[in-house]
Amino acid sequence: GSTLEIKGLHVSIDDKEILKGVDLTVNQGEIHAVMGPNGTGKSTLAQAIMGHPRYEITQGEVYLDGENVLEMEVDERAQAGLFLAMQYPSEISGVTNSDFLRSAMNAQREEGNEINLMQFIKKLDKNMEFLEMDLDMAQRYLNEGFSGGEKKRNEILQLMMLEPKFAILDEIDSGLDIDALKVVSKGINKLRGEDFGCLMITHYQRLLNYITPDFVHVMMNGRIVKSGGKELAERLEAEGYEWIKEELNIED
Ligand code: ADP
Ligand code: MG
Ligand code: MG
Repeated sequence: GSTLEIKGLHVSIDDKEILKGVDLTVNQGEIHAVMGPNGTGKSTLAQAIMGHPRYEITQGEVYLDGENVLEMEVDERAQAGLFLAMQYPSEISGVTNSDFLRSAMNAQREEGNEINLMQFIKKLDKNMEFLEMDLDMAQRYLNEGFSGGEKKRNEILQLMMLEPKFAILDEIDSGLDIDALKVVSKGINKLRGEDFGCLMITHYQRLLNYITPDFVHVMMNGRIVKSGGKELAERLEAEGYEWIKEELNIED
């Protein structure tokens, strides 16, 4: 399987250092959760990997199967098999959801090997049904007038259609009611398997009641300060983050 390696990553925003050396390896087949208090740099990690121009990488590397991701253009990162939920445009006027998905899938394929229209429609219908989405959503303009829950479901639809090697999902659970959360989780659990690796960033443990992570990492002050299994998330839910600060002598 493939490997996504984050090595000694330092990231600054407006000359302020936010990430102070993050090391993390995700293998295909594994789901890693990154948790931590607000403002500790979790979203910065996702944004830096996706290549957001505001986030300056001052040190460190990100490798996908030994290839330097940080040297790739954003679309090359997607072609290499990385899915970053936020990389997709919030709205593109005049482009239907279905057209958008088909071109995103074709962009990952070799020229001349575009997905067959019938196969595409079959796969789209199957996945939309699985995600309990209204089939009309395919013909609506991308994200135009989508509710928060519809956008999240649609992100999971993109994920299921694109079948990336690795997905980096930042707060995929935020603002979801229980029914939408269950559907989103069902999608991720369906993808789970030896061809899929996931870095799930979440402030709340709630999501992890539906998607059991293989590994849990705690980020504080721009570093991963503790790693463990799912029991770590359970302890955070019960006791908060204070005990980690005490254990590691971290000052606020
Ligand atoms: P988290 O996702 O863990 O809540 P973030 O990565 O969003 O944390 O933020 C980490 C730190 O970087 C915070 O102190 C935040 O104020 C700062 N920050 C994030 N985005 C920006 C930005 N665009 N401009 C300036 N500071 C930012
Ligand atoms: Mg965040
Ligand atoms: Mg996530």
